[in-house]
Amino acid sequence: MAESSENANQLSQSEIERLIADRRDFHRHPELRYSERRTAGIVAERLASHGYEVETEVGRTGVVGLLGRAEGRTLLYRADMDALPIQEENQVDYRSQTDGVMHACGHDAHIAIGLAVAKRLSEEREALGGNIKFAFQPAEEGGNGALAMIEDGVLESPKVTAAVGLHVWNNLPVGKVGVYRGAMMAAVDEFELTVEGVGGHGAMPHQTVDAIVTAAQIVIALQTIVSRNVSPLDSAVVTVGHISAGSAFNVISRTATLRGTVRTFDRETHAKIPEMVERVIRGVCESMGASYRLDYVRQTLPLINNEEICELVAECAAEVVGRENIVADERTMGGEDMSYFLERVHGCYFFLGSRNQERGLTHPHHSPRFDIDERALALGVEIMTRIARRYLSV
Ligand SMILES: [Zn+2]
Ligand SMILES: [Zn+2]
Repeated sequence: MAESSENANQLSQSEIERLIADRRDFHRHPELRYSERRTAGIVAERLASHGYEVETEVGRTGVVGLLGRAEGRTLLYRADMDALPIQEENQVDYRSQTDGVMHACGHDAHIAIGLAVAKRLSEEREALGGNIKFAFQPAEEGGNGALAMIEDGVLESPKVTAAVGLHVWNNLPVGKVGVYRGAMMAAVDEFELTVEGVGGHGAMPHQTVDAIVTAAQIVIALQTIVSRNVSPLDSAVVTVGHISAGSAFNVISRTATLRGTVRTFDRETHAKIPEMVERVIRGVCESMGASYRLDYVRQTLPLINNEEICELVAECAAEVVGRENIVADERTMGGEDMSYFLERVHGCYFFLGSRNQERGLTHPHHSPRFDIDERALALGVEIMTRIARRYLSV
């Protein structure tokens, strides 16, 4: 970790201990999407004790905390709270106490950091030139909790003028911060396709329309969307993650079901790609004499950061970890429903490095062995506090 990060860190020892204890407490008690009752309860109580105006059940199990003077800019600070249906395999004393549920994405860290920032900003509330609004969000993992909070009005009264959030990130070593200007995370689409042919005897294919052969061609043909329809300068992924068909070795299957995901960065590609997918499916099915049913669902949007807010975030982060530790090219085809906030207001979502090679804290997000270097927590608090101060001082 960079030398400068130690110096810039203004948290007291007891604040750091509190931060780690909070993170471990949330880690011990993970809750799945839209079931974050215990977590939300603690968050609401803590925010209220720091003098925030608190609203609960925003987006079902979300919590909003508002502090400010009504006029001026309003910064939305978003922290997601949900865990994953994963059985933890770490042998640490703060391991999950709930079978089959685990904070395997690091949202426990996001809650702890958010609460610590909320506390610090409340201590300097007189100096804030605007409003800070915390959105402790439910259901980031496939539940679009961001959208649920937006529908419940989190961006209104007072109207949010910018949004920030962070993700602890095991692809980057602790002490590094990833700030990407532009499309940083992909849009996530999901599809389920059922190919319908005509079943029959395995030895008499001429009397059938083979759903498996059709499905196999579709799998291959879908890859040409990425190689031949999307610009080589843009990025996209089409993955078929599931196929099921057939009942016996000598029976030609009437149906085949495929499930997959499509990832895109560019808004235009994102808009056009469902039609590209369907065109390929339609063409292959027609050529084989099969029909199909396609269920194509948009999950999240491309997450696109605003240049100006990125600049502010990078400056604040550089003060804490040193300019040489700001990484400008870290992006991922993974998705984030923070994209719904950033579609509506300017903002920046950034990666807070949390990997530690020597200590074996290298497991990827969503792994049953996922864990972070907790030194990232204090860095996150310091960076976020500075961002809020700076943004609200105008
Ligand atoms: Zn995740
Ligand atoms: Zn996550």
